[in-house]
Amino acid sequence: MAEARVYLVGAGPGDPDLLTVKALRLLRLADVVVFDRLVSDAILDLVPPGTARVFSGKQAGYHHMRQDDINDLLLRLARAGRTVVRLKGGDPFVFGRGSEEAEHLARHNIAFEVVPGITAAAGCSAYAGIPLTHRGLADSVRFVTGHVQDEAGPERDWAALADPDTTLVIYMGLRRLPVIVAGLLAGGLPDHTPAAAIERGTTGAQRRVVGTLADLSAQVEAAGLAAPALVVVGRVVSLAGTLDWFVPQSSADYAAACHSAVA
Ligand code: SAH
Repeated sequence: MAEARVYLVGAGPGDPDLLTVKALRLLRLADVVVFDRLVSDAILDLVPPGTARVFSGKQAGYHHMRQDDINDLLLRLARAGRTVVRLKGGDPFVFGRGSEEAEHLARHNIAFEVVPGITAAAGCSAYAGIPLTHRGLADSVRFVTGHVQDEAGPERDWAALADPDTTLVIYMGLRRLPVIVAGLLAGGLPDHTPAAAIERGTTGAQRRVVGTLADLSAQVEAAGLAAPALVVVGRVVSLAGTLDWFVPQSSADYAAACHSAVA
């Protein structure tokens, strides 16, 4: 039987041009692609038509497939000798549970490889014209999740994360934005601290809202931003006007352009 192997592959934040060469090579090699909800259609279009696809769609509060089921599926496919690509949005080891899947495979002696991807923090901020660090504005950057495992449990100490020299990138932070902002203000960040939210970053449907801690929640609500969205807080966001280079195109035009570019 062929050697079983699972590739845990990062698909990047959406723009198919941000896939790594290795990811693209593996997509063409795979027998089965098990993909997340966050993987864009434009990227799935790169999977050859004859390759089996399994949607493992997960959403906060609504699990299409439970993590245990996904783990077991990967195991079963590998044991059947299939070359499996487990395709995840962004980077598989950044808030992606890729490491839990890897642990499960390791525990069962299944060979695996991890292919890093461009994480949302890097991709979305670049496409929103926001550098994560900038001399004189931020000398460190921190990635945190706004999602809490247990809604009834204790709130994260947002005040402790308030640091004017650090860029704060919050994944899954939209729903709890008012709580997060209140904590950061309580921790001493000035209310004029620049802040942004980016929806569907790097895709043809990207939308971005730029404001300050004082008005970000209201702006997000007024614009009707929804997940997937990333929140960036810090002085680097003040460059978003000057460095606003990305012109999102309509999704259909964009997908067609990407398709012809890689064909
Ligand atoms: N492993 C992924 C993160 C998964 S957690 C990565 O490395 O990027 C899911 C969260 O990532 C979303 O709720 C959102 O906060 C963020 N995210 C992922 N892709 C995004 C995109 N294209 N635009 C905005 N936010 C995105």
